[in-house]
Amino acid sequence: MSDSPAAPAVTDARRPFRSDVVTVEPFALLGTRCAEEHITFPARDLCPTCHRTDVSTVALAGTGTLHTFSEVHQAPPGVEVPYLLGWVDLVEGCRVLARIAGGDHQPRIGDPVRCRPTTFTAPDATTGVGFEFEVIRDAHR
Ligand SMILES: [Zn+2]
Repeated sequence: MSDSPAAPAVTDARRPFRSDVVTVEPFALLGTRCAEEHITFPARDLCPTCHRTDVSTVALAGTGTLHTFSEVHQAPPGVEVPYLLGWVDLVEGCRVLARIAGGDHQPRIGDPVRCRPTTFTAPDATTGVGFEFEVIRDAHR
């Protein structure tokens, strides 16, 4: 491709892209749990369900079910297309919008998925660890 972006000026490939969203070692999505046991992702200072502010940060299991997805064909320069973007229902009960790893297997609605780390590059060319979901193939029908 002739209009590829310049290689990113790298920072630390093991740094979370957003430290309030993921931890790197061990890798986990971060959410919050309120005193009423509502789980929210991403982490927030206020529970959007009961509006309590006594929330604590929790590491989420990172597994769930593919609610729905779409193939994206338009993206800013430097983002390879097409890619899959989907809603995942986490086992904790909240829904997450994220990239879905395609690979050689076309996902299906209802597939079991798990979160995995991936490296993202920000517009300022710094990099960090983010997340995406992949279908759990051995659990696939
Ligand atoms: Zn709550």
